[in-house]
Amino acid sequence: VYRAYTAGRLLSGAITINSRHRATKAGPGELLKLIRASGPVTRADLAARTGLGRASVAQRVDALLGDDLIREAGGAPPTRGRPPLRLVFNAGSGLTLAADVGAIQARLALTDLAGQPRAERRVELSVADGPEPVLAAIRAGFERLLAETGAPRERVRAIGIGVPGPVEHATGQPVSPPIMPGWDGYSIPERLRTSFEIPVLVDNDVNIMALGEHATGWRQRENLLFVKVGTGIGCGIIVNGQIHRGAEGAAGDIGHVRVAGYEEAVCECGNLGCLEAVAGGRALARAAREQGLAAGNGRDVVALAREQQPAAVRLVRDAGRRLGQVLAGFVNGLNPSVIVVGGDVAEAGEQLFAGLREVIYQRSTTLATRGLMIVPSALGARAGVVGAALMASEHVLDPAVVNARVGTPVGT
Ligand SMILES: [Zn+2]
Repeated sequence: VYRAYTAGRLLSGAITINSRHRATKAGPGELLKLIRASGPVTRADLAARTGLGRASVAQRVDALLGDDLIREAGGAPPTRGRPPLRLVFNAGSGLTLAADVGAIQARLALTDLAGQPRAERRVELSVADGPEPVLAAIRAGFERLLAETGAPRERVRAIGIGVPGPVEHATGQPVSPPIMPGWDGYSIPERLRTSFEIPVLVDNDVNIMALGEHATGWRQRENLLFVKVGTGIGCGIIVNGQIHRGAEGAAGDIGHVRVAGYEEAVCECGNLGCLEAVAGGRALARAAREQGLAAGNGRDVVALAREQQPAAVRLVRDAGRRLGQVLAGFVNGLNPSVIVVGGDVAEAGEQLFAGLREVIYQRSTTLATRGLMIVPSALGARAGVVGAALMASEHVLDPAVVNARVGTPVGT
């Protein structure tokens, strides 16, 4: 009799490698997690690490092989007789479709289950047009990715979407997103499932960017802040290796934290002195124009600063200091070991980072800043789409989801 494990049993039976308290309820999903984390392993390794008997390991391994999630690789260095086969994760066994939706364009990707892109494309759109036309453009883009690569659609296991506004992650519904009229409470997964009958995961853009940066550059660091500085300012928080969304999914919304000393600056949200109103792209452009510079938006100021235009350099450095005022509080409160800064304004590079570092190191405690790294985004404009793909594949590879998919014998 085969039956899927339920999520509750699984969560209480987490595997700890080399622990004296070995889980006895490890299913195929937990074994897959071990194989992904540790690289090629033999069946004997799995038995030793989980405490499962050889027959139980064999059953679970067969289930994973049957679903193509793992494959047998070359043997270990031979000792005597036939070398034991090693098991490796087969990232090519499934695909994800990912979209990072911005205000005026979306980046789309078709990736394998390790987040490696098979193909990417950009789609021009306006998120303010509302969900129907935007999601139609994304669906069409996904279809083109599949057609171009010849990838069979039944191998696509999940879809990951990032949007530029607050999202209730559990339902995939945006919640009062300021720059997304018509999207409030709209079920993005329900709409996409009319074309693709697979799980659809949705999160806000900074969370997926944080996921992308963390997974590709900083997996060994458990606590990371990703800060996006563009027209808007927001941050994605990774705590103990996981996205921290907070009680209502609103964690990391630092753009509307008040910066002391700037109470005269009016923010789009109606409040005074918000970080976004004193360090965001729009604020930078306004300040630059007041000084006689030709700057239509934040990117123009950044370009001038990169050319060492003195007034623009000063403005960007000041924006970094204001950002630092707010982040210093987060550094004390969360004690991250890495702060990754991305977004248009971060392209200013050293000018922004100089102001940012100056204030964070001055205002945060010595212990919190000991070993703290403040670095530019490595993925740049691709961070979001990479993170959206990883959000989708992490769902597919979640032990509970794998167990439900491949099933496992009860009581073995
Ligand atoms: Zn505000």
